[in-house]
Amino acid sequence: MELVQSNKVPSSFLVSGPANTGKLRFVLEFARILQCKEQRTPDCQCNSCQSYRTQMFQDVKILGPRHFLTEIDFLLKLFVYKDNDKTRVALLRVFHLLLARADHIIWEHSEVWRSKLQTNSRALFDLLVDFQQEKKLSASYLKRLRSAAEKLQKSFPESMYTVQQIRNISAWAQVSSHSNVKIIVLERAQDMSVSVENMLLKILEEGVENCIFFLTSDNPNALLPTTKSRLLHLEFPLRSSQQEMQVLEQVFTLRPEDLSKMRLPQHSVNEVLQSSAVVNDSVDLSRDAKRYLEALEKGERFQKQFIHFLQQDEKSRSLTFLICLRQELRKRLYSDSNTLVSTAWKLFEEARYRINTIHVSPKHVFESMYHTLLRYYERFFESQSTSIN
Ligand SMILES: [Zn+2]
Repeated sequence: MELVQSNKVPSSFLVSGPANTGKLRFVLEFARILQCKEQRTPDCQCNSCQSYRTQMFQDVKILGPRHFLTEIDFLLKLFVYKDNDKTRVALLRVFHLLLARADHIIWEHSEVWRSKLQTNSRALFDLLVDFQQEKKLSASYLKRLRSAAEKLQKSFPESMYTVQQIRNISAWAQVSSHSNVKIIVLERAQDMSVSVENMLLKILEEGVENCIFFLTSDNPNALLPTTKSRLLHLEFPLRSSQQEMQVLEQVFTLRPEDLSKMRLPQHSVNEVLQSSAVVNDSVDLSRDAKRYLEALEKGERFQKQFIHFLQQDEKSRSLTFLICLRQELRKRLYSDSNTLVSTAWKLFEEARYRINTIHVSPKHVFESMYHTLLRYYERFFESQSTSIN
């Protein structure tokens, strides 16, 4: 926090680290301190700091994909087990973080999404009014709350970043604010397409007065080097299981024996906090993605050996693999004018949609995608060699 005290805060940060290591929590705590009107202490009672306690802040916009349902389910179970201030606030925070993504400023000029999100966030918001009162909450109320959150979560588009959104938030950032500084958080920044990232880069280069950008990413190498060079990079390490337990204890006052009493499936705890298995997996998958693209460039036949999970039709690993493919592709061929990147990008998005939303078997999706990609690659390299000759 030395940077804050010296009043020399750079205008943009990249916070990287494995998934669920508390990057957003860190960013929001940093933002709270930047916007604080008084002492900047952890227990500060100023209006601005108060608003951070339940994440109902002004002058903060959070964009990017994030799935809240596992976390909500975990916290609802926790809440039923232990209804106290801490669990109430934890739940309220996650609902407000979900609502923040539906913010009408972010979705301006995307009328279809905007009105859908508005209806569904209104419904969740209205339900939350009861939550903030002291009374005991019934099981049926919690069920309604959960289903309103699910409805809102499902009404976001597959692709969470558009050029229009970057324009919207930059326009918002330029209007004068309640507090002295505005905060823009872009989660999973590597999910931006190259054109969205270029738009952001333009804004970062021009600079917005009194506005700080925080990009978070679990794969910072997938960002363009030009973007990275504009950001002050802070890296987060992987948490050990002991540190995870400390988080559970500190944040939710839970002990290991509570967890076993609650009979939570281990994966839900992992997903909420952090799963080292997923991280190891994505290292392997990212290496496979690289080899897959290399084989593709050589025009080799469908290379099943890189995609072990196809035999088991494993949905979650195939989705991670698609993300790795996309990041790998991006590292290799980054340039807006490259039609191959945008085409392959669209194909990966489509594959993700088919596997995740309409539940087509990954095996099926990968096979047909590979053949389409191969055709594109052939045409692309053909056109390149003719232009060189
Ligand atoms: Zn304060």
